[in-house]
Amino acid sequence: MADIYINYGTRLSDMAYELMQEARIKDRLHPGMSVGIKPNLAVARPADGGATTHPEIVEGILRYLRDAGIRNIVILEGSWVGDSTRRAFRICGYAALAEQYGAALVDTKEDKPVKRDAHGLSLSLCESALSVDYLINVPVLKGHCQTDLTCCLKNLKGCIPDSEKRRFHTMGLHKPIAALNTVLRPDLHIIDSVCGDLSFEEGGNPVEANRLLLGFDPVLLDSYGAQLIGYEPDDIEHLRIARDYGVGSYADEETEIVTLHSDNKPAAAAVRGAAAGKYRRYIDEDGACSACYAALVFALKKTGGFRGEPIKIGQGFKGKAVKGFGVGDCTAGCDRYVKGCPPKASEIAARIEQLRWGK
Ligand code: SF4
Repeated sequence: MADIYINYGTRLSDMAYELMQEARIKDRLHPGMSVGIKPNLAVARPADGGATTHPEIVEGILRYLRDAGIRNIVILEGSWVGDSTRRAFRICGYAALAEQYGAALVDTKEDKPVKRDAHGLSLSLCESALSVDYLINVPVLKGHCQTDLTCCLKNLKGCIPDSEKRRFHTMGLHKPIAALNTVLRPDLHIIDSVCGDLSFEEGGNPVEANRLLLGFDPVLLDSYGAQLIGYEPDDIEHLRIARDYGVGSYADEETEIVTLHSDNKPAAAAVRGAAAGKYRRYIDEDGACSACYAALVFALKKTGGFRGEPIKIGQGFKGKAVKGFGVGDCTAGCDRYVKGCPPKASEIAARIEQLRWGK
């Protein structure tokens, strides 16, 4: 059993199904079980804006569950304070999906609150998230203006009442998010890293990476995801606290990763959005995969740009001796390059900083 399963491409429903198949999720299920699926529908905006979970991913999960004989399925979410979950279910395509697959939709804002003590905090949780036999968390990997990263750990904020969401903000978010993850423990996480926004939870600047990730440890997944978008795990306070609370461990060189369809990484031409456009002048791209290109855009956003010749990236540089700085294994022939296929944004950002100081 690997720690992280990754699948690349744009056939999101099939990709989610394949990941569950590869990780043999069926072995953990039995037909009498109730299963909850928790997407990120913080706002009522379609997934291509970079804020919400693509319904095609949840469709793949529903198909897999149905083929495993699971009939009792709920899709549960509570949008952020001020937005209507019912509206989000409709606009984001979940109302139609639930009808098609016979799944129930639960607005956790209407749920009964249940108290749990966690690391010195008395937390209020929504009953529906606690009452299912098997909970599948389906967050979006994206930036956040207050916590820098939102992914598996923070997505559980949709499983607390609105009054508790407000209280979390008065407590500074990090500690209560970490504490929440000690008392609500999803069984499985499938991450939407298709086109998460770089900066804002509500989307608007999607950067396509066209990948899904599956795993069981939210700290491991979030620490890996943080590096994919340019942060070190310790940069993200709620991640550090969750690790200290024993929720899970950081990803490291021992982390076992299984990648499906790595040839399927779509071309960087697919990367779009204002943020990607802003950094294009720093990039010399020739046949780059979008996951690689997105990592470079994340790194440039973190460092604020690059002074020097545009950074080389893409399969067009493979096997060529090229002057300058490259990103990804394809640019191994450059004077200097960052390893990886794709490389981590945190490592690209660190190298850009070193070059800035002439190291
Ligand atoms: S290193 Fe090359 S093959 Fe690998 S992700 Fe980047 S562009 Fe694609």
